[in-house]
Amino acid sequence: EEKIESGLEKSRRGIFSQVAALFDREEITDSTWEELEELLIAADVGVETTLMLLDVLQDRVEAERIRRPSELRKALKEELQAILDSAPNQPVEVNDGELLVMLIVGVNGVGKTTTVAKLAHKFASEGAKVVVGAADTFRAAAIDQLQIWGERAGVPVIAGAPNSDPAAVVHDALAAARSRSADVLIVDTAGRLHTKYNLMEELKKIQRVIDRNGSPAQENLLVLDATTGQNGLVQARKFAQAVHLDGVVLAKMDGTAKGGIAFAIVNEMKIPIRYLTTGEKLGDIAEFDSKDFVNALLG
Ligand code: GDP
Repeated sequence: EEKIESGLEKSRRGIFSQVAALFDREEITDSTWEELEELLIAADVGVETTLMLLDVLQDRVEAERIRRPSELRKALKEELQAILDSAPNQPVEVNDGELLVMLIVGVNGVGKTTTVAKLAHKFASEGAKVVVGAADTFRAAAIDQLQIWGERAGVPVIAGAPNSDPAAVVHDALAAARSRSADVLIVDTAGRLHTKYNLMEELKKIQRVIDRNGSPAQENLLVLDATTGQNGLVQARKFAQAVHLDGVVLAKMDGTAKGGIAFAIVNEMKIPIRYLTTGEKLGDIAEFDSKDFVNALLG
């Protein structure tokens, strides 16, 4: 928790500190509402979600006869948390002896490969038997990186030859996971968005391979880079069309002074945030907690 708090320091000191400052004033005025709207949009909360929040808050101010800025601050925190709880996060459950396949998707550069390594490290250190599948066969560097991470974390990494069929790698990784009686198979996927090549068809094919191999328990996670703001929403819509998404990993939360993208994603996609990542080291990942998150941003 402490680590997450320090990882969210930049967001707290950034635009959300200006939001908090609105409530240190003597009274709630028209300008409070205008500034709140501007700041929430600037914090990546998104226009749609910001307008919805303001509507709800203005209704509450009237119905509950809210006069003091401190009461408005409390109402804002409650409504922000209500948004996050509209798609509540449930911790990923790893059951002994029952294979869970985690498919990690996202565009290049968001922090996908690092997230795969962090999750592998996390589950392995919790005692689970973990196997990693390196199905991003275009990027030899991503495979190398995973193999280095895997060695460090003591986790076997199943990789195909460069440019081989990613679905075949997933097939092999499933077989390897089963033969080792693994609890979790974490699959890294490609993320290049190119016109001549269809990433979404590739992901669908991988999903079919998993389905054909006994449909193990599955957790499909989309990794989004918190520093790229509203782009995340565009990416989420795209990936959701190709594969079922169970949750989002918001990566690089330590690198943004905004931090509001979580609210836009959950409100507009109704997909829970599962994890936050807050640094480049293996341990820099945490389960998402809506209450802690809102407290970290607004104190
Ligand atoms: P991929 O292309 O999506 O697989 O992205 P990578 O996992 O290779 O990460 C891209 C870059 O972002 C690398 O330099 C990582 O070290 C860095 N990175 C990944 N996660 C985080 C994070 O949570 N915080 C910070 N500051 N950097 C990160």
